[in-house]
Amino acid sequence: MSDKRYTDAEASGSARATSSGNAAGMSLSRRRFVAAGAVSAIVACLGAAGVAFGREGRAQLRPPGGAGELDLEARCNRCQRCVQACPRGVVQPLPMTAGLTSVSTPSLIFRNDYCDFCGKCWEACPTGALAADAPSTSDIGVAKVVSDACVAWMWSGCTACEEACPVEGALAMDEHGRPVVDEALCNGCGLCETTCPSSSLRAYDPSVSERAICVVPRASQVAAIPGAVTSAQLTEGRTRAVPKEAAHE
Ligand code: SF4
Ligand code: SF4
Ligand code: SF4
Repeated sequence: MSDKRYTDAEASGSARATSSGNAAGMSLSRRRFVAAGAVSAIVACLGAAGVAFGREGRAQLRPPGGAGELDLEARCNRCQRCVQACPRGVVQPLPMTAGLTSVSTPSLIFRNDYCDFCGKCWEACPTGALAADAPSTSDIGVAKVVSDACVAWMWSGCTACEEACPVEGALAMDEHGRPVVDEALCNGCGLCETTCPSSSLRAYDPSVSERAICVVPRASQVAAIPGAVTSAQLTEGRTRAVPKEAAHE
């Protein structure tokens, strides 16, 4: 893991700070510097709190370059540079509903596009929360087929995900014409999820997943279920981590 660190000048714009402050107080740049330092300190505390309170129970889909939930949350200073750097717009900050120690840290959403592992997010990261030497730079997660949302499972004829998948052997159709993911080969790029036309081919049903194939974190409970999953299993298990004791069995 690289230990790339935010420089003071980058962090606060202090290169523009003047030393000609007056007796009445700090210059605007100086105030920004202090504010940035305070935010970083709070963020560091939040990350440390995540470690202290054992938040191994969470599993978020992260941009490539992270070294696990706790490490990413401890290093990330919520600067949003990865969000701004992603040319495909798939890096999004987590909302407050993700929890206090996760809010504003980066996640991946494959609603409109996928990840091509271009590296711009980890190149933009100033703290090493995303870094070029992490194993996840070539493996984001794993795609899970959602049987009750999939056209090929419910009826037949759809092969869009298999045609889209850029990784040879990662996604194939079985003898019933249903998509099957080879979880060892899938790298979680999300092209299948982006391409899946399930919601437009089915009558609208809010009780099932909008996409019939979704990339989930490898550490999540739903990733540990063999084969296809239901929409309920996806909802229940995509952000919950497999308990450590179970993962080591
Ligand atoms: S590797 Fe590129 S496409 Fe993928 S999340 Fe990072 S910036 Fe976006
Ligand atoms: S995420 Fe989907 S498209 Fe990408 S490698 Fe895995 S199965 Fe193929
Ligand atoms: S593209 Fe979607 S609906 Fe079509 S077979 Fe693949 S998962 Fe099923």
